[in-house]
Amino acid sequence: MNPENVEWIKSVRRRIHENPELAFEEVETSMLIRRELARMEIDYKFPLAKTGIRAMIGTGGPPFVALRADMDALPIQELVEWEHKSKNDGKMHACGHDVHVAMLIGAAKILKARENHLQGTVILLFQPAEEAGNGAKRMIADGALEDVEAIFAVHVSHRLPTGVIGSRTGPLLAGCGFFRAVITGKRGQAANPHKSVDPIFAASAAVISLQGIVSREANPLDSQVVSVTFFNSGDDLDVIPDRVEFGGTLRAFSNASFYQLVKRIEEVIVNQARVFKSSATVDFFKDADTIYPPMVNDDHLYEHVKKVSTDLTGSKKFQVVQPVMGSEDFSFYSEVIPAAFYYIGIMNETLGSIHSAHSPHFMIDENVLPIGAATHAAIAERYLNDQVS
Ligand SMILES: [Zn+2]
Ligand SMILES: [Zn+2]
Repeated sequence: MNPENVEWIKSVRRRIHENPELAFEEVETSMLIRRELARMEIDYKFPLAKTGIRAMIGTGGPPFVALRADMDALPIQELVEWEHKSKNDGKMHACGHDVHVAMLIGAAKILKARENHLQGTVILLFQPAEEAGNGAKRMIADGALEDVEAIFAVHVSHRLPTGVIGSRTGPLLAGCGFFRAVITGKRGQAANPHKSVDPIFAASAAVISLQGIVSREANPLDSQVVSVTFFNSGDDLDVIPDRVEFGGTLRAFSNASFYQLVKRIEEVIVNQARVFKSSATVDFFKDADTIYPPMVNDDHLYEHVKKVSTDLTGSKKFQVVQPVMGSEDFSFYSEVIPAAFYYIGIMNETLGSIHSAHSPHFMIDENVLPIGAATHAAIAERYLNDQVS
């Protein structure tokens, strides 16, 4: 990228950073993106998923490859003192989604300039609500993946030095879900337990038994987590209550393991309640958009990311990374078509960009912007070339 374009992409990122907007409220961010797209004479469809955008560069025909950026910020008060600090109290781009948008707009500029060379169509997806609300799911419902055969996305990482690309084949991010159980018994005087049905006893047995799912049923080489994080019941020292509520979270690295956990958590709680003559219901908040499937990279697309990024920045600038228990709603796309997710480093100790995402001290090395834009563009253009040759 020439210096002028580097300044432009930085200014785009800074404007978005100053005005962070939460899930499904990315009105001005979306407007800024559309203005930049219009200026570059790039066609787009709007809205998808309320504030989302689907832009198109290339022949308009197959093959179609998509690049995705998320747009939403977090309900966090920025504690970084700098010229372009968040102007919205209690809101901050603490996960780098401002950077993702700027890099994708930068890629749009590169691809538009090379439009005559493209052997197909690149779809640019600007998606709302990654942090909350399953924006990806709604984008798909609104046609984001129409005709698309492969999709890529990048996330900034404070664990990798600026510009270093990291990814892995197969499982990269865990599937994440939550559950809340209610066990119902019969209230009574604690001195006469035989006249009540004690839900605390039943719930205690259920909590213990839940720990047996991962330790006794899951393959030890297939990492999974079940954690009970709250347990509420009565507050009288002399009365057996009629109800206990408890719940927690589950994580797994494959869809099969994830949905097996969901099934077994429900079975264990319902059946343990029955053992002690009480009854149970378990809610996994399926309608509240709190379930994230695991992010599993497609082998071919992972190899493509690795090849393109090493060609672009050198083999020392590519790292195989370990899977992490965090989650990303990009996994919804990967349930529909082959997908690859990769990281790009923003860590620079001199600058102090060493804080993890979701920290109020989170900051980035802006030198990542042109590298990310070029990587995006090369991944898409060369994907199309490979399909034709
Ligand atoms: Zn985040
Ligand atoms: Zn994020």
